Amino acid sequence: MRCPFCAHDDSQVKDSRPTEDNAAIRRRRQCAHCGARFTTFERVQLREVTVVKSGGDGKAARREPFERRKLEQSISLACRKRDVAPERIDQLVSGIQRQVETAGEAEIPSSRIGEMVMDGLRQIDSVAYIRFASVYRDFSEARDFEEFASTVQEAAQAEATGGPASG
Ligand SMILES: [Zn+2]
Repeated sequence: MRCPFCAHDDSQVKDSRPTEDNAAIRRRRQCAHCGARFTTFERVQLREVTVVKSGGDGKAARREPFERRKLEQSISLACRKRDVAPERIDQLVSGIQRQVETAGEAEIPSSRIGEMVMDGLRQIDSVAYIRFASVYRDFSEARDFEEFASTVQEAAQAEATGGPASG
């Protein structure tokens, strides 16, 4: 498996065990070149699904196979340097993959996957959510992004003050 940090082609498996729900094998790996450690998950793929990205402006729609790895990459990127456990990200990715693969459709619009990711991230980490949403919605103006961010912040504050007292 290629190292995600230095792109070296070889890494060693240091530890291998089933996840809590027994749905996957979790492997701790170490890069033979730069020594970085990372985690991979081996799991069942139920069926092949094609993701359709609408072209817009009269351009043809693009189709590519659904890849868990790509989904995981974009979610990990949104959660970068945030206090989100890899297991939490893996759960979200698995949940979305299950929805995609069990929807019974051979094709799924990329926008629908985007909504699933945003729904999930919103519950995990607001910063990661804003990061993903800003890329996903492709805001053309910074002001749009600021308005959006303040909306999320207001919602979070309302939740914090409106919720039950802790302690
Ligand atoms: Zn490396």
